[in-house]
Amino acid sequence: MSSFEADPEVGPELPVTMELLEGAPVALGGPRGFAVTRTLPNRQRRMVGAWCFLDAYGPHDLGDSAGMRVGPHPHTGLQTVTWLVAGEVLHRDSLGNLQEIRPGQLNLMTAGRGISHAEETPAEHSPVLQGVQLWVALPRATRDMAPEFSHHADLPVAAFGDITATVLMGTLGDATSPARTHTPLVGAELVLAAGASATVPLRPDFEYAALALDGAPNVDDATLKPGPLLYLGAGRTSLRLTTSSESRVLLLGGEPFEERLVMWWNFVARDHDEIVGMRLDWESHTPRFGEVHGYDGPPLPAPAMPITRLVPRGRVR
Ligand code: MN
Repeated sequence: MSSFEADPEVGPELPVTMELLEGAPVALGGPRGFAVTRTLPNRQRRMVGAWCFLDAYGPHDLGDSAGMRVGPHPHTGLQTVTWLVAGEVLHRDSLGNLQEIRPGQLNLMTAGRGISHAEETPAEHSPVLQGVQLWVALPRATRDMAPEFSHHADLPVAAFGDITATVLMGTLGDATSPARTHTPLVGAELVLAAGASATVPLRPDFEYAALALDGAPNVDDATLKPGPLLYLGAGRTSLRLTTSSESRVLLLGGEPFEERLVMWWNFVARDHDEIVGMRLDWESHTPRFGEVHGYDGPPLPAPAMPITRLVPRGRVR
């Protein structure tokens, strides 16, 4: 983690937080699996608003590899947010949805009390795959809701000078996504033309973070490259972005999420015993997670529980 001091001459009265959260390399499906960079949860900072998980991958040249192949697995207590920069992913879930997603579209799966799904590179696909997989934690009020899936092919776009922002979730400027949210939050993809210099309006009650998807954008004077997540804190009313070459930035924000969570494998819960129950329901094929049809491969087995009890954690370590 690095800290940046706000410029005392031009900075706001409140100290402005900036932390560079390094990503961890993870291979989905084992050491020869699909390589991703995980920046949430991070050692120092587990969440940004209700955003509790962020994997970025690619650009992967698929060549003769099978691309993404993630067999049927369960989720609870969260929404999965799938966003692509290049390529295609085919989603199948236990509600019977079969949906291919392409760049500029949003797949939003709300697990509630339980759902299962599989994701794969379709047989007919582009040569390159790049995207992000995000999770949003559901609050106490809706975490046990019935599962839902929605595909949004036509998302609203806001313009701020030389920046265009596609709003995945929540509101940015005058654009509001139709996707259903359960806590106040925002997710947007900002595309900066070469030479762009513009200011994006922020909400001071939200905390924010930015991830470079392409290029080398300057975010509030820090140059960001694909890899780490730049945590921007709360209390800001705007964010200045500039770039010399075309760049793409994922902006995440939300009201700080104050409930303590246990995140384990693909589950978001509130304590150890809930996780034990979820794991058992998956391993014993109870109806809770339904069944995914049509995926050519076995469901993913749950890992063994750790020897020690899982401890609920807050958004900051
Ligand atoms: Mn999943």
